[in-house]
Amino acid sequence: MRLARYIEGGQVAIEEAPMPVCPSGGLLIKTEASGLCSGELMAWYMDQKAPHVLGHEVCGRVVESQDDRFSVGARVAPHHHAPCLRCNFCLAKQFVHCALWKSTRLEPGGMAEYFAIGPDLLLDCHLANDLEACDAALVEPVACVMKSRRRARWRPNDRTAVIGLGVMGLIHLLSCPGAIGFEKNSERIARGIALGFEVRSDESGSGEFDLIFMCPGSQDVLDLALSLAAPGARILQFAPMPGAHLDLNAIYFRDLELIQSYSCGPDDTTQAIREIRLAQVIAKDVVSDFIKLSDLPQAYQDMKAGKILKPMVIFD
Ligand SMILES: [Zn+2]
Ligand SMILES: [Zn+2]
Repeated sequence: MRLARYIEGGQVAIEEAPMPVCPSGGLLIKTEASGLCSGELMAWYMDQKAPHVLGHEVCGRVVESQDDRFSVGARVAPHHHAPCLRCNFCLAKQFVHCALWKSTRLEPGGMAEYFAIGPDLLLDCHLANDLEACDAALVEPVACVMKSRRRARWRPNDRTAVIGLGVMGLIHLLSCPGAIGFEKNSERIARGIALGFEVRSDESGSGEFDLIFMCPGSQDVLDLALSLAAPGARILQFAPMPGAHLDLNAIYFRDLELIQSYSCGPDDTTQAIREIRLAQVIAKDVVSDFIKLSDLPQAYQDMKAGKILKPMVIFD
C-alpha cells in the first residue's frame, strides 16, 4: 500500500509500505478520507518526529474487526489517541495528559491507504455510517474546537472575536454563531464573507470583545487579542506560540483571563460528531481542495505557503 511520510526539512514523500496487521482486539481500516492538519505544517514540531507518517483526521471502512461493536464494512471515525479513564488526569477529565492517551496512535498513520487501531483506541472511535466520509474525517479538528469553545466558556451573548481564518478559525466561526473574524489574507476574508460571517481586515474594535480566540500562534495575534479585549475578557490560546512575549501587567490590570486549549478528548469528539450531524460544520465549508494521495506533497507546500486553505485526501 502507499502512504505519505514527512521527512525532516519540510518535505513529504509518497512511499510503498507493508500493510498494517489488525491488532488483537482492534480494527484494520481502509482509509476513505484524511485531512491535512495545520499542526502538521509546523516544521519545528514535525522535525522532532521525522520521519513521520502524516495524517490523523481520518475516516474509513472496517475491513477486519476483532470487536463486535464494529462490523466489517462499517464507516468509522477514530481519534488517534484515547485515554485510560482511570488515572488522575482522566478522573479530572484532563484526558490529553493521560499516559495511555499519549502512547496510543494510528498504525502507521492516517495518510495511508490502510491503517490499524488497537483496542485502546476503540474507546474514542465513532460509527459514522450516516455521514459522508469527508465530513466524518472532520471529527478530530472539530473536536479540538469543541474543547476550545468549552474551555473558553463561550456563551451566545459573548461579544466574540476569532483571530485568523485558516481552517481552525473558520471552524470556530461556524461553532460560535455571532462571532466576528479578523483576517488579513484576502482569499480567507472572501471565504469567511461567503459563509455569511462579518470579517474585519483592520484592527478595529479595540476593547470591544468579551472572548477572543487566537487561532494561529504569533506575537501579532497575541497583541491584537490584547487590544480587542474588553476588561474582564477571556483570551483563548488555540495553538503553540513559540517565542511570543506577554507582559503580565497587561492582563493583570484589566482582569483578563488567558486560557489554553490543546488537542481534545472523547467528550469533545462526541460533541463534534453531534455538530457535524447537525451540519453545523461540513467539509465543503472548510476544505478547499479534495485531492489524491499522490497530490499531497504539492498540496502540503501550498497549504504551508497559505495558497490553499486545507486539502483532504480522498482515497479510491
Ligand atoms: Zn488535527
Ligand atoms: Zn488516563
